[in-house]
Amino acid sequence: MNRDIKTKGIIIKKINFRETSVILDVLTPDFGVISVMAKGIRNKKSKNTGMIELLNELELNLYKNPNSDWYIYKSAHLIYAHLFGIEHSASILMQAPVEIIRQIIISSDDSQAIYELLETYLTYIKTVEKNGIAIFWRFLLKFCRIIGIEFSTTSCIECSQKKYFHAYFPQKHGFICNDCYHPVNDDQIFKLNKNASDIISKLNNIGNYINETSITKPTIKQINRVFVTHLSEHFHKKIHLKSIELL
Ligand SMILES: [Zn+2]
Repeated sequence: MNRDIKTKGIIIKKINFRETSVILDVLTPDFGVISVMAKGIRNKKSKNTGMIELLNELELNLYKNPNSDWYIYKSAHLIYAHLFGIEHSASILMQAPVEIIRQIIISSDDSQAIYELLETYLTYIKTVEKNGIAIFWRFLLKFCRIIGIEFSTTSCIECSQKKYFHAYFPQKHGFICNDCYHPVNDDQIFKLNKNASDIISKLNNIGNYINETSITKPTIKQINRVFVTHLSEHFHKKIHLKSIELL
């Protein structure tokens, strides 16, 4: 039994295969991330070539052989080309969430919510004029919530009080305040500067502060490190976030 499948999808990875074919990783609302073989699509005569750009959102007609994990591309209708005409720094911020999603196996239970989160983020981020990186962090926070590894950005993991965060404590999956911090833990935690601490505590509603906030370079490093460490701890593997280094 062969299956014809219609689904929405966002292209999160594209690799050329042989002379004219392309292998795509596509985030879908129903099936999580799927691998799609688009045979002959780079052929000059193919009218589908422009369809398969990174971050294109498509209505896909696929064919699934029940004996294989592969989906075969039949045709597509472009819903939105998210990266089209986007300037450099915005394009980096659009690719950063995709870099994270590529490294994590998305369960099909979560795929609808993650699809909607990414779609909303891609649409919103290009309207943000300043401090877009903080919107990316808010994306990561929501992403962690959806996949069930949420961490509090407003209260200390030891005393549960809303206080000034002093550091991030990876083994305890959270932030620790000035009062609860003991130098004895020093080698396991990493300290946050005032700016980073301030932004983390506002991250849930960062959209309200986006234009009045200033974000320093050390802060960008520290907060990226918090998220990468948090994800790495949970998935027991090193998660990378290289795209942001190009900002
Ligand atoms: Zn505390």
